[in-house]
Amino acid sequence: MSSHTGQSAVTVLGLGPMGRALAGAFLDAGLRTTVWNRTPGRDRELVARGAVGVRSAEEAVAASSVTVVCVVNYDAVDTIVRREAVAGALKGRTVVNLTADTPDRARGAAAWAAEHGVRYLDGAIMTPTTTIGTPAAVFIHSGPEDLYREHRPVLEALGGTHTHLGEEIGRAAAYDIALLDIFWTAMAGYAHALAVARAEGITARELAPFAKGIGDILPPIFEEAAEEADSGSYSGEGNPITSAVSSMAHIVHTSEAHGIDAGVMRAAEGMARRAVGRGHGADGFIRIAELLGRR
Ligand code: NDP
Repeated sequence: MSSHTGQSAVTVLGLGPMGRALAGAFLDAGLRTTVWNRTPGRDRELVARGAVGVRSAEEAVAASSVTVVCVVNYDAVDTIVRREAVAGALKGRTVVNLTADTPDRARGAAAWAAEHGVRYLDGAIMTPTTTIGTPAAVFIHSGPEDLYREHRPVLEALGGTHTHLGEEIGRAAAYDIALLDIFWTAMAGYAHALAVARAEGITARELAPFAKGIGDILPPIFEEAAEEADSGSYSGEGNPITSAVSSMAHIVHTSEAHGIDAGVMRAAEGMARRAVGRGHGADGFIRIAELLGRR
C-alpha cells in the first residue's frame, strides 16, 4: 500500500461526478492518487490539486496496490479492465469496484478477477457526491473479510460510514438494488405528485414543506414494517389494506381526470387489491411484500 514516497497510494478509474468526488476525497486525505478516465480532460481539476493523471488504464492500475473503479455500470467496467494489458497490470493487486450494477454482475466480476489473480472487493455508494469525504457518506462493501480489513484504512479516507455486509460478493449489490428500489419508486411518486399538484394549481414550492413531512413519517413506518415482514405478522390496526386501496384509487382517479398517467399508482393499487382478494384486507400494507414473491 505504501509508495516510494511513503504515502498510501490509490488509483481511481472513472472520473464522472462520483469518481471525481472519490478521487478528491483521497487527495484531501493525503493519499497519492492516480486517476484515469476514458474521455481525457476530466482529470484537470484533480491534477491541479495534486493527482497524477495518466494516459492509460494499465498505467493507472500499475501505480497503486489498490484501484477503486467507479463508472456507469459493469459493461463499462469490463470494457476497461478486461483488456489483456490492464488484467496483466492488475494481477496481485486489489480492485474495489464501487460501480453500481446487479448482484449477478458482481459475482461475474469476482469470478473474472479470481481467474486473473486479481484481488476483488465489491461495494456500493448510497449517498450523493456532495457527501463524499464527509461524515454523511454511506458505503457498503462485500467480499473477503481479510481483504476488506486490509484496505479499510484507504476506504475510510472517503469519509462516512463503511459497512462490510459479508463475504458473499453479491451482497453489497443486493443491498444497493433493494435500497435503490425504495429511492426510485419514491422519486417516481414525487415526480407524479408534482404533476398532479400542478394540474390542481399547486406549485412544487407550495407542496415542498408537506412533501418533506411525508418523508419524515416514513422512518418509524420502515422500522415497524421490518418487524412485521420478518415475523410474517402484519398488523393493519392503524391503516388496513382496505383503507390504503381506497386512498390509492383517489390518486388514480384524480390523475387520470387530468390526463396524467397513473401507471405507477395503478400497479401499487393492483397489488393491494390482490392482497384484499386473498383475504388480507385487515392486514397492514407491507403484507404485499409476501404476495409479490409468489405467482
Ligand atoms: P455515471 O454513472 O454517468 O458514470 C460516468 C463514468 O462512467 C465516466 O467516468 C464515464 O467515462 C464512464 N463510462 C461510461 N461508459 C463507459 C464505457 N463504455 N467505458 C469506459 N467508461 C465509461 O456518473 P457517476 O460518476 O455519477 O456514477 C458512477 C457510479 O457511481 C455509477 O455506478 C452510479 O450509479 C454510482 N453512484 C453515483 C451517485 C451520484 O450521486 N452520482 C450516487 C451513488 C452511486 P466518460 O467520461 O469517458 O464518459
